[in-house]
Amino acid sequence: MLGVNVWRRMLGVDRATVIEDVDFDEEADSVVVHVRPRRSTKRRCGRCGVRAPGYDQGDGRRNWRTIDLGTLMCHLQADSPRVDCPEHGPTVAQVPWAHHDAGHTRDFDDQLAWLVTHTAKSTVVDLMRVAWRTVGSIISRVVAEGLAAHDPFDGLVRIGIDEISYKRGHRYLTIAVDHDSGRLIWAAVGRDKVTLNKFFDLLGDKRNAKIRLVSADGAGWIGEVVTERCANATLCIDAFHVCQWASKALDDVRRDVWNEARKGGMSQHAKELKGCRYALWRNPEDLTARQERKLAWIAKVNTALYRAYLMKEQLRIAIRTKGVLAITMLDDWLAWAQRCRIPAFVELGRKLKRNQKGIEAAMLNNLSNALVESTNTKLRVLHRMAFGFKEPEHLIALALLDRGGYCPPLPGR
Ligand SMILES: [Zn+2]
Repeated sequence: MLGVNVWRRMLGVDRATVIEDVDFDEEADSVVVHVRPRRSTKRRCGRCGVRAPGYDQGDGRRNWRTIDLGTLMCHLQADSPRVDCPEHGPTVAQVPWAHHDAGHTRDFDDQLAWLVTHTAKSTVVDLMRVAWRTVGSIISRVVAEGLAAHDPFDGLVRIGIDEISYKRGHRYLTIAVDHDSGRLIWAAVGRDKVTLNKFFDLLGDKRNAKIRLVSADGAGWIGEVVTERCANATLCIDAFHVCQWASKALDDVRRDVWNEARKGGMSQHAKELKGCRYALWRNPEDLTARQERKLAWIAKVNTALYRAYLMKEQLRIAIRTKGVLAITMLDDWLAWAQRCRIPAFVELGRKLKRNQKGIEAAMLNNLSNALVESTNTKLRVLHRMAFGFKEPEHLIALALLDRGGYCPPLPGR
């Protein structure tokens, strides 16, 4: 016979849980462990944890699914009486093995949350034997608990604000990252002043005043709210977004040149141009030999497109240089853009000129571009994963779990 301590470890419950009996439910094909909270932890409100007088027996015996025992499913079973909380009224009493209102134990929730951030969606569903929509509510629970235990807004000095599209570009999230911890600290549905104001409301005036730098993508509404709410902050434009604008301008030039060739009956030439997209996009140090030959070909046959390419590269180098030298390089670049006679780059030059102060602030303050870029990329991956969650809140929980540092350790390790 196994001792009660081994059972306790196997089930991941501590001394606050009394194990009464273990049996097997043939019909459910599950091990059922009968438990109760130790007397000292009984009769607390499930929502706030305050001691409260008993109310009634609630729904009687209840099951909580926990981590499988070998190949068998396992449930904890206990009474679920209600207490009369002075604040919440009749509420199911707190149990030490599970979150309030949960059908799974804490260990089950933690293992599932860990798996979601470490492996593929189908693996999680098969291994844990849960529906994907259940995963959404479990990770929301885990993140809510993490947020309650650790305030992500403490000591913020340098933050980044960005918008991310989801639902095929029809909906948006506004997100905030902490440049110092490298974490995602907040996300909400929407991309407007009202949404962003909610973030600064959460922080409160005292913490808003401590923020020194806010990086963003140059969107007017972000700038307006930041100026209004963070009296001591300098607004910077993320280098990541400036590079994105330049890539977009280059792609516009390529498309125009390609369309001209196509309409002019130069179909072979058009085809070759189409194949150049990646050679133009990539950083020169990452080019394959084939892509290098493509670029050499562009230089020979289309000087405008090649000049556009050089301009994109020059801008990228200036941004990467950072510091005072970068500011001189940016000035030179703006002068070049003004007289380049490539409409997309003349336009890009104007956009940069309008945002020059913010771009220079980013160059001088050496903000991590990698953070905004990787958060942006990772959230796109997570969004594909979150497909199947009905609530955007579950996508936000998934994002915070993965990028906000709320992923719990594996139980028992
Ligand atoms: Zn309560």
